[in-house]
Amino acid sequence: MGLLKDVVKPILGGMTLTARRAANLGKNIVTIQYPDEMREQYQRSRWRHYLTRYDSGLERCIGCSLCAGACPARCIYVEAAENTDTERYSPGERYAVRYEINMIRCIFCGYCQDACPTGAIVLRKDFELANYKREQFIYTKEMLLEKYPGQNLEPYRSKVTGVEAPIYTG
Ligand code: SF4
Ligand code: SF4
Repeated sequence: MGLLKDVVKPILGGMTLTARRAANLGKNIVTIQYPDEMREQYQRSRWRHYLTRYDSGLERCIGCSLCAGACPARCIYVEAAENTDTERYSPGERYAVRYEINMIRCIFCGYCQDACPTGAIVLRKDFELANYKREQFIYTKEMLLEKYPGQNLEPYRSKVTGVEAPIYTG
């Protein structure tokens, strides 16, 4: 073991690196002041799920469970029920009376979105998903279903500051 090779050289290497970093302080700042500033998001960013509606207001989901079958993390639960003439939720024969996603297990792969035959389940740009209790990560149908058609296409705004997340166009 050489003192020069094993001790002096690594120390000098570390000091050189630190000096180089210090010389660059203040230049090329890559951090942003979140949540007052929001990082740009790509057009096809995939974060929080939504269950979408048709323009008529009817739910797109027909309770077929293809999304649950495609999910590699097994975190989607769907329970279907029949529409009736007096109680209709979707244009099809059936609708999802219960739809849940365990967001702790989700890996945001988007396979559920790809598998859905009606475009019902989509992943959009809301990435502020932190919460306090485990049970708050079980997203129910009521939490997932958009309130009106196209709601989730609006630009994402921070829940904390209301600042809009810009879309990356470069
Ligand atoms: S994004 Fe992937 S892991 Fe998450 S619910 Fe959809 S299929 Fe499952
Ligand atoms: S979200 Fe799509 S794939 Fe999943 S149950 Fe509803 S219609 Fe079927």
